[in-house]
Formats: sequence, C-alpha cells, structure tokens
Amino acid sequence: MVEYQTLADIQRDLSTGSLSCSDLVDVYLARIEAHAHLNAFVEVYTEEARAAAVVVDQKIAAGTAGPLAGLVLGVKDVICHQDHGLTASSRMLTGFQSLFSATALERVLAADAIIIGRQACDEFAMGSSNETSCYGPVRNPVHPDYVPGGSSGASAAAVGASLCHASLGSDTGGSVRQPASFCGVVGLKPTYGRVSRWGLIAYASSFDQIGPITRSVEDAARILHVIAGPDGKDNTAHAVPVPDYPAALDAPARPWRIGYLQEAWDSPGLDPEIRQRGLDLMARLRAGGHEVKPVSFPLLDYVVPCYYILTTAEASSNLSRYDGVHYGYRSPQAEKLEAVYTRSRSEGFGLEVQRRILLGTFVLSAGYYDAYYGQAMKVRRRIRDYTLELLSDCDFLLTPTAPGTAFKLGEKLDDPIAMYLSDIYTVHANLAGIPAISLPLGQHSNGLPFGLQLMGRPLAEADLLAASRYLMDLKPL
Ligand code: GLN
Repeated sequence: MVEYQTLADIQRDLSTGSLSCSDLVDVYLARIEAHAHLNAFVEVYTEEARAAAVVVDQKIAAGTAGPLAGLVLGVKDVICHQDHGLTASSRMLTGFQSLFSATALERVLAADAIIIGRQACDEFAMGSSNETSCYGPVRNPVHPDYVPGGSSGASAAAVGASLCHASLGSDTGGSVRQPASFCGVVGLKPTYGRVSRWGLIAYASSFDQIGPITRSVEDAARILHVIAGPDGKDNTAHAVPVPDYPAALDAPARPWRIGYLQEAWDSPGLDPEIRQRGLDLMARLRAGGHEVKPVSFPLLDYVVPCYYILTTAEASSNLSRYDGVHYGYRSPQAEKLEAVYTRSRSEGFGLEVQRRILLGTFVLSAGYYDAYYGQAMKVRRRIRDYTLELLSDCDFLLTPTAPGTAFKLGEKLDDPIAMYLSDIYTVHANLAGIPAISLPLGQHSNGLPFGLQLMGRPLAEADLLAASRYLMDLKPL
C-alpha cells in the first residue's frame, strides 16, 4: 500500500472502490506487528477495528459516511474510551476501565474515525522522552536508539511509522509538538479551551489540551474541525463557534506579519543547523512577500521555571485522587488505612511523578505559597500579556519547536533539568493559552527530523493552519 499523506487521498481511493476501510485496517495492523520494537501501542483493538471498518465501508457504500471516514486513529493512553482500558501508562491505574468516553473521542467516533488502539506515553503525560511509561520506553521510528519525544511520543512515533494515519495526543507543555518534531510529523496544540477536556486525564488543568498528530496540515484542520467546540461537560471549553478549518486552508494567501523570537533563535542551547534552517525559511518567507521581523521576548528565561512550578502544583492536586481506594492499584502490603495511601502511592507512581507531586506540594505549602506559586502566577500573567501584545503587532510568532533533534534513549533520564529544558520553546504557548503548531520542515545532517513552531492568536487556528500549509509548501530559494 502506498503511504497516504492525507485523509483526502484515502477517501478518494475509498470512493472509487480501489480501497476499503477493511483493507486499510489490515495494513495498519500488520504494520503495528512489524514495528512492535517501537513499543508504541499498549493495546491494539484488532477485532473492534475490523468490525468498525466493515460498518464504515457500508456507510461509504450507502453515502452516509461521516467526515472522518477512512481515518484510522491511535489514541494516547490518557483519553477516556468507554469500556476500554486506560492507565496514563502508570502502574497506578493497572486494570482500570473507562466508564465514559472523552468528548473529543466521542466526536471522532461519530465522524466515523476507526480507533485502532491505545498508545503509550510518559507516565501521567509527565515527560519529554516517553521513557517513563510503565510499559517501557518507546522508540523513535527514524532511529530506534533515539527517543520519540514525549509525552505523546508513541502517538507521534505511530504516525511517523505509519502504524495509524493520525493520533490524538495531549499537550500540557509541548507533548504534542515536541514529539511531532522528533518524529517528523505535524503536531497541533489548540487554544486552551478550543477542545473540551472532558475525559482527558488531568495533569495540569489550566494547561492541558487535546491535539491531533498528523502527516499533513490538512488532516490537522479536519480533525480539529471535528473535535473543537463548546461542551456542556467542560465549562472551560469556549462557546465561540468553530470555523470551517479545512475550508480556511484554501483562503488566498495574504501577506503575513511574522515575528521571530530573537531570544529563542539566539539561545546558545539551540542546535546551529536548526537555527540556520530557520533563517533560510525566514528568507523564503520574505521573498514570498511576507514581513518577517525580530521581536524580543525577554521573559524566555522564566518560562520553564514558571511552567514547572504551576504544573507541579496543579498535578499534586489532580493526582491526589489516586489514593489506592478509588481507582486502580492498591498495595497488597497495606493493612492499615494510612498504609493504603502511602504504600499504594509509593508503589503505584513512578519516580518522576513522585518528584512532581512532592515539588507541587512544596510550592503550595504554607510559608512557600507566596514565594513560589503566587509569584509564578504573576509571571504567567506577564508572559500572557506580553505575548498578546506581540501578537497584536504580528500574526504569528516563529520559534524552533525544540532546541535539538531527538536525543538518545537514557541520555537525559538522570538529569531532570536537562530534560525540562527541552520544553523551553513549547511551554510558552501553554502558559499563554495560545494555539501553536509544530511543522516538519527539515531533516538534520544527523539524519533525524526536526520541526519549527508557529504560534498564533487565541482562537485563530484557521489562520495558523492556513499559514502552516503555506509554510509547508514553500519551495527552497
Ligand atoms: N514535557 C513537559 C512536561 O513534562 C510537557 C508534557 C506535556 O505536555 N504533557 O511537563
């Protein structure tokens, strides 16, 4: 089978009858098996996906198929799917089954997507390398000695290796975009509140968003169009009507004003080749009649500390529900009530998750609250205000997605600060609540892919996607 770049190509072949959803599902199932070493899937829904394919094929024949018919989708192990296992790749949720489905998942199913399986992630979506999953590390599809990024590493690896056509991931500080960059695919984090968080396992609730990982900008637009929108079950989901994102891609290109964040491009930690490729892209944009100008973002040094103070604080509260009583794992050693909590949590959570719960509890504790949590809230506000000011004068902000290409398995595992710094360019959009996309715009001379990131105004995904498609089509000078 040819590797399809877009769902439109798949649907074209489905409509002529040269392809069926059943064929497609079988091809992906075979590829998942052939790429078992990537360790991307926690569970593959073999029979269910085959049965769904038969139904969608019938709908196509009857002319009643939904907009995502023919889309074979993988779902990160943090998105609830009724009567299916869900663990956030943590021992803590061993054996847990979802009692309901996430709104985003219900919407893709209603649009006739076929879900092929559940994909591993860093435990509770905390990480940048997909090495903290209780199912063992996931590998990069381009080179198996390298990480796929995280925390939605398996979701990006699966799309990169064509084990499914697209994935649904979640992004709290870059978890859709950084793995997309490391695996050579497209990763979109929508505006905070554009997609309902109902049924997404909470990590840091004021940052979390579900987002698509795809092979093309078109498919990101099509999936977002289905999953976005208000939801009575999540009152942080915006009531603003959902524009026709796929149609917006065809809007005539207009001259954009693009600001590149000087501190990001000048940062000493940035790989020089990625920097150069970014500069080349800017030259091409200028040649295409767009305004590309430097903008200063002096708060860059504060984004990582601010992000880790606030997200660990929120995580310490969100994860308090895993007490050995309500869900999943309970220590068999625990005899007294207090030991149920302490032993279950010590045995159920991995070390990185424990570190974050401790950090979060510390920054919220009496005596330290004002110095850490309170301060970080103020810094977040300044980051947001400053960013919106930049975006009043520019349509988009351009940065690298990550400081480098994928790193080796194990390379940063013992150095949390180095690991956290790989999020330096992505956490900005979550702190500010704005949409951001990672586009696969290059291959490094080391053979690994890398992405560049475009950030846009709140709820301006239509523009962000249109500009993304334009960027992807820009030819070398
Ligand atoms: N790597 C970041 C973290 O560990 C982002 C994770 C995410 O977006 N879920 O917090």
